[in-house]
Amino acid sequence: MTDTAAEGAAGTERPLNDLSFGEFTARMENIGLSGLQARKVFSAVYRKGRPDLGQGTARVDEVSPRHLDLIRAMPWGKLSVLDRRQAADGFVKYLFQSPLGGCFEAVRIPLFGRKHVVCISSQVGCALGCVFCSTGRLGFSRNLETWEMVEQVRVIRDEAELPVRHVVFMGMGEPFLNYDNVIRAAVLFTQSGGLQISGRNITISTAGVAPAIRRYTEEGHPFRLTFSLTSAIPEKRRALMPVEKRWPLDELVDAIAGYARTTGDRAVIAYVVIRGVNIGAEDVEALRQTFRNIPIKLDLIDVHDASGRLQPPDAEELKRFRDMLQVLRVPVGRRYSGGSEIGASCGNLAATRQGGVALNGAEQ
Ligand code: SF4
Repeated sequence: MTDTAAEGAAGTERPLNDLSFGEFTARMENIGLSGLQARKVFSAVYRKGRPDLGQGTARVDEVSPRHLDLIRAMPWGKLSVLDRRQAADGFVKYLFQSPLGGCFEAVRIPLFGRKHVVCISSQVGCALGCVFCSTGRLGFSRNLETWEMVEQVRVIRDEAELPVRHVVFMGMGEPFLNYDNVIRAAVLFTQSGGLQISGRNITISTAGVAPAIRRYTEEGHPFRLTFSLTSAIPEKRRALMPVEKRWPLDELVDAIAGYARTTGDRAVIAYVVIRGVNIGAEDVEALRQTFRNIPIKLDLIDVHDASGRLQPPDAEELKRFRDMLQVLRVPVGRRYSGGSEIGASCGNLAATRQGGVALNGAEQ
């Protein structure tokens, strides 16, 4: 849903929550609102949600009842919450269903008891088939529309006790295989008067779609990227992440280097740690060689494999790996994967819902 003209020709109207700020205000002006009134409606819609539009909101009271009725009659994309589970550590996992078909997940993550991060999905399923991921085992169904990503954040924000200050595209799917809709959603999240999330607090995680990384870099967006690597040894990476066959490591690293050079940021490299697979001396040496001229930060993530086939390292193995990584002279962090008892890793709930076995699960 990207073309207003096509929408008109087809006789359909895109949901209000699929529109960019400019498109939204244009639609309001089309029914006779001033630019200022259109901005106020946008603010009220995203602050309170459309069902409350005009209810006790003084700023929208400036809009006439007739106009409010016209706006209420406009379509608004709605998701159903099929499941909602809270873990002891405060993670809340949502399973959404869309009228467009399919289930997908989002996770609300508490940060320092002051704010929330919301991790959202960008696709129903995923075509990339990383062997450690439940979503990859579901296969690909479709791209999410912009409004379906907007609603994941808006619905969760409306239920949260703390403000939502961060959004990460690390749920189901490869965001850069749904590039246009993801960027539209991210831009909408930053809109002042709307959800007002800082662009620097929006992270898009990619498994390595090199052409899209180059495009993103050229376009100069304010968001952050993280790159899922999991091995710097091409054969090993190919076995873990089949995306390596399509965009080989050389091409990916070249795109990462361009991103780091252009943005001036350290490239965040996500590395799913797997016992006996990718935490040995040869893996460290491959990382050192690959990134010797590129500023990076390494984020280590424990693999979550419900089948038990792939295991995370124990504390001693992880310490040994981290000690070896010091040769890289780069920051090394460990991403906390919370909510394990509610299957908060990507794809577990949806796989269970579809009758599949939640074999794996890892963030990108
Ligand atoms: S880890 Fe990400 S890219 Fe890989 S299969 Fe899962 S959702 Fe797709």
